[in-house]
Parts: sequence; C-alpha cells; structure tokens
Amino acid sequence: MMKRNILPLLLVLLFGSCVVSKPVVVPTPLPSPDPISVAIPKKPRNVILMVGDGMGVTQITAGLYSNNNKLNLERFKVIGFHKPHASNKLITDSAAAATAFACGIKTYNGAIGVNPDTVAVKTILEYAEENELSTGLVATSTIVHATPASFIAHQPQRKMYEEIARDFLKTEIDLFIGGGKRYFDRRVDGDNLLDILKLRGYDIDTYLEDELPTKLDTDKNYAYLTADSDPLTVAAGRTYLPGASKLATDFLHTRGKGFFLMIEGSQIDWGGHANDSDYIISEMLDFDEAIGLVMDYAEKDGETLVIVTADHETGGYAINPGSEMGKIEGAFTSDYHTADMVPVFAYGPGAEAFGGIYENTAIFDKMMKAFGWKR
Ligand code: MG
Ligand code: ZN
Repeated sequence: MMKRNILPLLLVLLFGSCVVSKPVVVPTPLPSPDPISVAIPKKPRNVILMVGDGMGVTQITAGLYSNNNKLNLERFKVIGFHKPHASNKLITDSAAAATAFACGIKTYNGAIGVNPDTVAVKTILEYAEENELSTGLVATSTIVHATPASFIAHQPQRKMYEEIARDFLKTEIDLFIGGGKRYFDRRVDGDNLLDILKLRGYDIDTYLEDELPTKLDTDKNYAYLTADSDPLTVAAGRTYLPGASKLATDFLHTRGKGFFLMIEGSQIDWGGHANDSDYIISEMLDFDEAIGLVMDYAEKDGETLVIVTADHETGGYAINPGSEMGKIEGAFTSDYHTADMVPVFAYGPGAEAFGGIYENTAIFDKMMKAFGWKR
C-alpha cells in the first residue's frame, strides 16, 4: 500500500537530496605566499630603553602644549602603562624603579641592582654582554646616579657613588656618557678609574678638554664625562643629550653586534622636585629631541626596538586652569614622587608586547623576550 510504496522512494529522495546538497569540496591550490602576512615577527637586533626620570603624563602634556602641540613621542603607536610601586613602599624611588627595569624584580627604595635581601641580580645590560652584544648608558645626571647605576652596578644603597663607579670596571660597557667625573678620578681611595679604563683601551674625553664628538673610532670603547658632579640644566646651557643619543646609536650600530642602550632624561625629575614648571618643560623637550633622533635611527634601521617610559611621576604635577597653549600654569601636590601609573611607548620589532597595563618589572621581561633570552 501507499506507505510501503513510498518509503523507499522517500529514503532515496532524502538520501539523494543529501548527496546533492552536500557542498562539493574542490581542492583549491594554496595561494602563493604573501611575504608580508607570512613573515614571522622579527626579533629586534637592538633595544634602546629611554627613561624620562619623573616623566608622568602631565610632564609630557606640558611639554606638548609648550611646543606648538607637537612631540616626537606622537610617533609611537603602541602605548601602555606600568605600575611603578616598589617592594617596600607604594611610592618608588628611581633606584628601585630602575632595578625593576634592569633586573625584573621589585626591590626596596635605594637598591641598585640588588634584591630585597641585597643580593646582586643580573641586569639586562649584563645579559646583553653575556650574549656578546654592545652596551651603552647615556644620562643627564651623573653616570653613577640611581637610574644608569641600576643597569650596571650592584650596591645596597644608591648614594654609594664611588662603589658604583668601580662596578663599571666589572663590565665591558662599550660607551657611557654622563656626569660624575669626580667619582672616577677624585676618589676617597685615591684610585683613578679613568686611568684604569684607558689602560683597558677606552678612549676617554671630558667636558674640561673637549666638546662631545660627532663621530667615534669604532675600534675602541668610549666614555665621555660631561661634568665633575651633576651636569648643567638645559636652562643653564646643557645641550649634549640629543647629540649623545645620536652618537651612541651610530657608534653602537657600527660595532655590528647588536646592542642594548639606555638613555635617560634625568632632570625632568629634578624640575618636579623643585616644583618648577619651566624646568620640567625645558628638560622634557630636550628629552623629546633625543627621542626624535633615536626614532630617526630606528625607522631607518628596522631592527631596533625603542621603549620610552618613566620610572615614576614627580611632583603631583598638574596643568591648572588659567593655562593656555604655550603658557602652562603648573601646580604641584608634592616635592617628591607620586604613585601614578606611568606611560610606556614602544616602536619596532617586539613593540606590540608593550600595550596594556603591567608591573614595571614586566619591562625587563618583555625586553628579554624580545631578544629571545631566558633569565
Ligand atoms: Mg634618574
Ligand atoms: Zn626624584
């Protein structure tokens, strides 16, 4: 009867329709590889870490509005924030903060490249040397001051300038430029570390005899001492930071091994401590000029990761009502550092990792990962 007759037919129709409606899989040839989309993200050959000491968001903004609404920092597309607290205090100092960048650990205020138990921890500069890269430090403070010191020295207290200077001899740093000549050649122990460095093949210039050169002999390591103690402010005539930044990148580049370089705009912080808006702005714009020259290099090189950040904000700086474009009415809540999160700007191979919010110690981790190194 009807049911029995149509059942096979229905099955055939269903089965048949299934077969017919099944999408036909025709193997398609693989598209020819697109060199851009299939390229594995490149590792950087060089990492340049630029630290604006005390450079919070307001310091950057005051610089921007004092410079026709334009900064080289705007050339960065990857931006993040780090949390700058120290191991023992919510408000960090520059030593604990730089040790976080250099060693990847939270430590106590005053610590130079050591952990909370005052044990030395290997720095990114030391990892770079171990991996046979060139290394450099440039600062507008003394070169033994907390920020640069934390990348090369291991001391329990930041004020141990002569001990920090001696730690420079334990490394083979290729280039350093900054103040603090007296901690090398007018020491309590009577040693002249500049003579020792010369014996080890360094070319050494000081502010007393020479201007900072624009080109260097690439066969020799190089040091330039820019002042006996603290270098001048920009307002008092200091001009070397942009030129030193360019000299350092050119020199380390031509050494041909890849490099790690830390450049510090040290005195943005000092303007904050002094609650001096003009001091902050002139130092900020000097640092931004150095950033521009480093970016010119990195854009041309294509293998350089540039990171710009601060260790902390200083002054609780604000741009108050009454301010205009080109005329900042600065105000302050403190003559010390604050606990504000700090902006991070990154450019080049590996830059994407610097977006987001993370601990200050993650800057170390991200640099190590970019180089492909393990702690
Ligand atoms: Mg500093
Ligand atoms: Zn400070």
